[in-house]
Amino acid sequence: FFIALEGGDGAGKSTQAEALAEWIRAKGHEVVVTREPGATPVGKRLRSILLDVSSAGLSHRAEALLYAADRAEHVDTVVRPALERGAIVISDRYIDSSVAYQGAGRDLSPTEVARINRWATGGLVPNLTCLLDVSPEAARERFTEAPDRLESEPAEFHARVRSGFLTLAAADPGRYLVVDASQEPEAVTTVIRHRLDQVLPL
Ligand code: C5P
Repeated sequence: FFIALEGGDGAGKSTQAEALAEWIRAKGHEVVVTREPGATPVGKRLRSILLDVSSAGLSHRAEALLYAADRAEHVDTVVRPALERGAIVISDRYIDSSVAYQGAGRDLSPTEVARINRWATGGLVPNLTCLLDVSPEAARERFTEAPDRLESEPAEFHARVRSGFLTLAAADPGRYLVVDASQEPEAVTTVIRHRLDQVLPL
């Protein structure tokens, strides 16, 4: 069973990934918590290229392909092997981040970004995608670290990313759960657990 957590920066995805993993592990299942970009050795190098301020001005197509390369390596070496041995995988970001950031956020066609990522992943689609939806303004208040290259993008960019995610969720309600991530983290976890109880017999 493959769960993706999506949303803007500061939406609380990594906090939710850990909280859900703890809950599922307590029920006796193996859980693999992973993230994009940067879950593999090559991915870490791609992540540093993608997020370093020196990459300002990186071609948007090159950026989309580097994220897709990170994802291809991630799926082949981490996600698929874990799913094949029966583990539950929770990924902090997946394809929809690319559709929202490189598609809606930049000027690339969301359909084309989705297409290169389908190829990159061999068509692996999450069983459940949780969109942690929060306004960029509220999310910004949660930043504790120095902003990386993307977090320094203007507010309009983050607003386009947010609506890109909401469009994806509206188009595929069976796979998506949209959660108001301005709530307390415990309340967000409860909403996701409720959905998992319905779709994943634990
Ligand atoms: O989620 P995380 O903080 O690890 O993401 C790192 C950065 O990469 C964030 O600033 C995020 O906005 C950006 N990103 C992106 N396109 C993606 C995935 C992440 O621009 N497909």
